[in-house]
Amino acid sequence: MKRRELFGSLVASFNKDSKQEIQLRPPYYKDETDFITKCQTCNNECASSCEVNIIIIQEDNTPKLDFSNSGCTYCDLCAKACPNDVLALQYKKNIDTKISINPLECLSWNQVMCFSCKDPCLDEAIEFIAMFRPKINDDCTSCGFCIKVCPTNAIKIGA
Ligand code: SF4
Ligand code: SF4
Ligand code: SF4
Repeated sequence: MKRRELFGSLVASFNKDSKQEIQLRPPYYKDETDFITKCQTCNNECASSCEVNIIIIQEDNTPKLDFSNSGCTYCDLCAKACPNDVLALQYKKNIDTKISINPLECLSWNQVMCFSCKDPCLDEAIEFIAMFRPKINDDCTSCGFCIKVCPTNAIKIGA
């Protein structure tokens, strides 16, 4: 087994049940309480308008973002579609979380060359030091596009 594969399988078993259950909202809300009070009387237009299908409607009929297959393009469509002004353009902001790389799980922090997260980051927010040891800088918009490409699930939401 190659070194990269060995490291990947070790980390994969460590990570098996560690998918984050953090509730990320679409980046256009004013008050968290609006979701609870106003999301019961719509047809979930935010979710159906999202072209990258990252908005999931939960049991309480409120939306959350799911980065497991894609990331947010900040396209504004969900904000325009919301009929109750829970999401609205004037509240646009970065997604309310911090994205970070766990050095213990990252291949590149463990002497295995890997640039998987670099290309999807259009904001150039992932900086490598001499081709290793990537860190996420302040240009990160928490868009989530780097999450699914990491072979060892080393990129963390809300960490
Ligand atoms: S469309 Fe607006 S009111 Fe309906 S679930 Fe989405 S955020 Fe809530
Ligand atoms: S801004 Fe666009 S990509 Fe992001 S959640 Fe809303 S509809 Fe989806
Ligand atoms: S979440 Fe941050 S680091 Fe990851 S692709 Fe988006 S801007 Fe880049």
